[in-house]
Amino acid sequence: MARNVIVVGTQWGDEGKGKVVDWLTDHAQGVVRFQGGHNAGHTLVIGGQKTALQLVPSGIMRPGTACYIGNGCVLSIPDLLREIDKLEAAGIEVVSRLKISESCPLILPYHVALDLARELKRGSAKIGTTGKGIGPAYEDKVARRAIRVADLLKPDVFAEKLKQNMDYHNFVLENYLGAEPVSYKKTLDDALAMVPRVKPLIADISSALNKAYAEGANLLFEGAQGSLLDVDHGTYPYVTSSNCVAGNAAAGSGIGPGMLHYILGITKVYTTRVGAGPFPSELDTTVGIGKHLSTVGMEFGTVTGRPRRCGWFDAALLRRSAQLNGLTGLCLTKLDVLDGLETIKICVGYKVDGKVIDIFPSNADDVVRCEPIYEEMPGWKENTIGTKRFEDLPQNAQNYIHRISELVGRPIAMVSTGPDREETLVLQHPFKEAGQ
Ligand code: GDP
Repeated sequence: MARNVIVVGTQWGDEGKGKVVDWLTDHAQGVVRFQGGHNAGHTLVIGGQKTALQLVPSGIMRPGTACYIGNGCVLSIPDLLREIDKLEAAGIEVVSRLKISESCPLILPYHVALDLARELKRGSAKIGTTGKGIGPAYEDKVARRAIRVADLLKPDVFAEKLKQNMDYHNFVLENYLGAEPVSYKKTLDDALAMVPRVKPLIADISSALNKAYAEGANLLFEGAQGSLLDVDHGTYPYVTSSNCVAGNAAAGSGIGPGMLHYILGITKVYTTRVGAGPFPSELDTTVGIGKHLSTVGMEFGTVTGRPRRCGWFDAALLRRSAQLNGLTGLCLTKLDVLDGLETIKICVGYKVDGKVIDIFPSNADDVVRCEPIYEEMPGWKENTIGTKRFEDLPQNAQNYIHRISELVGRPIAMVSTGPDREETLVLQHPFKEAGQ
């Protein structure tokens, strides 16, 4: 019987989801993106060769795997086409294997202009968006004025909707944000010029996924960003514009929640965050352990190159994430980055206004007041890169992993000890555990 697995980031993104999705796709016939846009950015290393993906599902790296972009994503057609061209130039067959939902809202040039102008206006209070128009495109979706992929197939309808949207957004750009308006004619011409290339990719993804599953395909749902960036459950307003928790794999692709069988939470063995917002276990990345995590972990954004903020592992944050996602198991990544540390700290709870709590608050204003409470464990000197069996890890690394599992209340399914596909250790195979 076919089974489906979801991979979600449990922290603030960049946990190494791309690598794990790629690893799991040898058991999947289809890989699905269900939220976010081309701001995601996964880095895959296969046989030493690096590939950065932005919107195309990581399953593209396995020949023959079908890839789907669900309705929960927002889509910039020129960026998608550029990504396809880059992959195909590297010898990867994309066009015959990729389908995009007819219901995806489009990201158009005025969304980018709005994104950039707004961040500029916010000054020091900026959110730290990637400036790719993703937030404004999601706003249009919720405001029920989004132009969707299917509209591209009816040029008259597209032109009329575009006119209405651009009258409104150009007014805001010019009169409220003090920015240059965007040309209607150029936006229309550029969009319509791309239709011939996009048309063969457009599909009813809900039906395609239900049909593939009924015919025996295992599906893998690939989350982007991380649970604490979820628009509802993250550290609002320092969040992304979509729901990135596991529940949205259903709504964002058009399947029922009963089709989600195993929820794998990807978790770095320390914590990182890009952009602004509260981060209780944060360390100074210019000195000591903070510098070690930043440099050894190479904590710089895949898409933006921005340095990531780094800190100790936060078990209280993971407890929040475990309940938000209904995690079945954890996949710990970047264990090798901790090699050589004398001692390792784990944040096990916080002091807030004199009271002790053991779970990350749901309100960002409360998170700001959290003082981390740490537990300390001895580190290990040995190199863990590429270790294949749990028993072969240094005893202190095993103890650290067991302690994480105990504090979070979830089993460890996998441990990643290096960026390469092969540098992966398995304790419970998610597809087998899901009953495949
Ligand atoms: P994603 O968006 O969650 O897929 O994460 P990113 O791709 O932004 O960041 C993860 C980075 O860590 C990538 O450069 C990966 O190649 C790398 N990576 C993944 N797993 C490991 C690991 O176990 N050890 C090390 N050293 N690097 C890893």
